[in-house]
Amino acid sequence: MASPAPNAASADRETSSAYRGRLAPSPTGYLHVGHVRTFWTAFQRAREAGGTLVMRMEDLDPDRCRPVYAEAALDDLRWLGIRWQEGPDNNGPNKGGPFGPYVQSKRSSIYLDVWRKLLRTGRLFPCRCSRKDLAVVLDAPHGGAQTQQSGGKSDSDDSKLNDNPDHEPDQEPDDEPLYPGTCRLFMGGTPQLPGPTASEFEDPGGTNWRFRVPDGEVVEFVDVNLGPQRFVAGRDFGDFVVWRRDGVPSYQLACVADDAAMRITEVVRGADLLKSTARQILLYRALGINPPDWYHCRLVVDHNGRRLAKRHDSLSLRALRQRGLTPMNILSADLPIEI
Ligand SMILES: [Zn+2]
Repeated sequence: MASPAPNAASADRETSSAYRGRLAPSPTGYLHVGHVRTFWTAFQRAREAGGTLVMRMEDLDPDRCRPVYAEAALDDLRWLGIRWQEGPDNNGPNKGGPFGPYVQSKRSSIYLDVWRKLLRTGRLFPCRCSRKDLAVVLDAPHGGAQTQQSGGKSDSDDSKLNDNPDHEPDQEPDDEPLYPGTCRLFMGGTPQLPGPTASEFEDPGGTNWRFRVPDGEVVEFVDVNLGPQRFVAGRDFGDFVVWRRDGVPSYQLACVADDAAMRITEVVRGADLLKSTARQILLYRALGINPPDWYHCRLVVDHNGRRLAKRHDSLSLRALRQRGLTPMNILSADLPIEI
């Protein structure tokens, strides 16, 4: 698919294949052991393919990202022995590589461009629901099922409302609650409610924008690691946010925009993002771009079966390093893997 740019900086070695992978830490805290296997797998796969590994800092959320964590992530990954060929820290003549900047907060114009392209497909609509609006609809008996055309949540599907329905990047993006469809009527064409139509918008402004999923459409893909995956749009996930009212793109939009622009051929990430992959495949389809291959890693859990979260400060790489552990200790740690 993509070929490595001839002037791509090489940290350790020359690259010899078209494989392009990426590491995409989000600097909202210190990396912890739960991240290590995914990053290590991404590193190994790029290395075994003789390809290029890209480091991309996913620092879009202004409320939660901190420069100190971005620096720490680069430092901790280097300490583990992971190397990349393109990234924000490579100070070559082409500023880290041919597809920079490699920091999401500096790529706004790229995201805006993708937002406009999606808008022209007629699949976006502005969503003016407040958190309270969504909470009321989702809490009402059968509230979600009435407006989502191909059936909403079943009674047993008790997906609790995320604290932030705008969706917080990096914090379980798969858990965005099924959108009840309230603002779908604002879509371009023949708006049935008073208010602006999508075609009048040149930039997102201070409102949320959602992607209208094709209800009932099956999204299937074969994960390189986990095998065949199948999701149904409108049932497994609803209309999802692509642009947030606070002026930043959602994880879904930014990820697709960057993976496409950086010519990533394989995405290696945690299995907690499988549903996000289904959403992102719909964005690729709408944009007319071939998606990359997907390799989702099983999640590491603690000995009580709970997923390791960044909140587990004692398991941060920072803390483990300070306790004298070596990269080998950490990479060979006996941690259960969620099936
Ligand atoms: Zn809405």
